[in-house]
Parts: sequence; C-alpha cells; structure tokens
Amino acid sequence: MEKYGEKLYCYSCKKKTNQAVVYKHSVEGDYETDGYNWSTNYFIVQCLGCDYISFAEENWNESMFRPSKFDENDEPCEWEPYSIVSTYPEQEPSRTNRIELNKKEFFNVPGQLQDLYGQVIHNFNLEYLLFAGIGLRMISEAICKDQKIIDGYVLDNNGNKVMKNGDVVRSQKLVGKINGLVEKHLITPNQADVLHDIREIGNSTAHDIEIPIKKTIRLAIEIIEHIFYTIYELQSPSKISSVKSIPTPNISGVTVVEL
Ligand SMILES: [Zn+2]
Repeated sequence: MEKYGEKLYCYSCKKKTNQAVVYKHSVEGDYETDGYNWSTNYFIVQCLGCDYISFAEENWNESMFRPSKFDENDEPCEWEPYSIVSTYPEQEPSRTNRIELNKKEFFNVPGQLQDLYGQVIHNFNLEYLLFAGIGLRMISEAICKDQKIIDGYVLDNNGNKVMKNGDVVRSQKLVGKINGLVEKHLITPNQADVLHDIREIGNSTAHDIEIPIKKTIRLAIEIIEHIFYTIYELQSPSKISSVKSIPTPNISGVTVVEL
C-alpha cells in the first residue's frame, strides 16, 4: 500500500504516525463567485503502527500558496502550494486554556473568503496557530484585493508616517494595504496594528517561524469578522432582511482578551 506523504494524527496512538493509504477519492471544481479552482482529496488511511483506520481530508484552492523563499529584503520571492489536512477522529485540543470559537454566519461574503475564514476558526480551535495566522494573512490580502485597495502609508518604529522629499511614502505591499484599510475607515489604527502582527507571520523564514500568540490570533479573527460585517453584510442592501439576524461582532479593539 502507498504511504501517505506526511505523518497524520492517530487517535489510537494519540500522536502523529506514518499511515498507509487504503483508499483515495478526489473532487475538484470552481467557485461561482470568483472562478477560483479548488480541490479536495479524501483518504481512508491506516496507521502503520497500530492498524487503526482514520479518515483524512486535504483541501486546497487556487489562493493557497505560501512563501517558500525570501529575498534579501525578507520579502517572499518564491511561493509553493499547500493544502489544509484534517483527520477524523480529530486530535483533542489540550484541556488547558481551551477556548472554542464558533464560526459566525455571513451571507454575502465571497465563497473563497468564507472557506479561508472557516479554516482559520477550525485551525484556531485545534490550536494550529501558525496555520490560523497564515490564513488570516491571506484573508487580509484577499479583502484588500476585493476592495481594490492597492497601497497605503507606511509607519516608522515611532508610529509616524514615513516621508520622502516632503511626501508621504506609499507602499503597494501588504504593509501599505493594511494602512489603506485605515484610510478607507474600514478598520481603526489599533486594529491595523493587530493585522500588522499577523502580516509578520508570513515573513518569517521557514527555520525561524514563531508560533503566533493565541490572543493576537483571536483579536485578528474578531477584526476580520468586523470587516466582513462592515463591507459585505451592511453594504449589501438586497440582503437587509437577513442581516438583521446577524449579531454585531464584539470588537475588542485595543482590549486584550486574556486566554
Ligand atoms: Zn496508531
């Protein structure tokens, strides 16, 4: 039997083990909203240690690329596709400091963003904080693209706008675009600070990736929910009646939630 490419969690062994592929089924298609391609591979796998049978699901879509190489300015210069793998039965999250987030319902948010958001919540609940952080960074990029925000100012270490020859310097990288969200009054400067922390996650090279702090990830999730609500739900008049049933997300802003 073919061996699965990476170790997967075995519910019986209570750890990640090598697994054999017993059966594989693949489906693919395009999102209606943006035409992005997606694919899902389903696997029945068997632990090579204890023979326990599990189910694994690999999800990928065209937006799922992550930096694999960085140039001298620490900017990504090469990208590689990656997929999110879930196994069933799932690994039980540690019981200490356990916080479960529920996925909020949005009716007008584009399908690809909904998918990413769902994966972020799922990974947060499993305490896969790095994946949650990368997902949040991708959502930030996608929102800016969707809102046609192409640039924004840049702040120095003292929080002042970077100037050159008397003009405000504008950047077309994510650092600028996040500040572009502030300029469009879609987020506050304090909320932008949290998204900048998230932005840093993708800039670390593979060998020194830091696991993001849980409260930062949680704050960023609340901010993304707030942006979804403001941009897609409130500003979609055709769906006013359904919007009424959506609770306004509880935005913490600068308040740090202790976990
Ligand atoms: Zn096992």
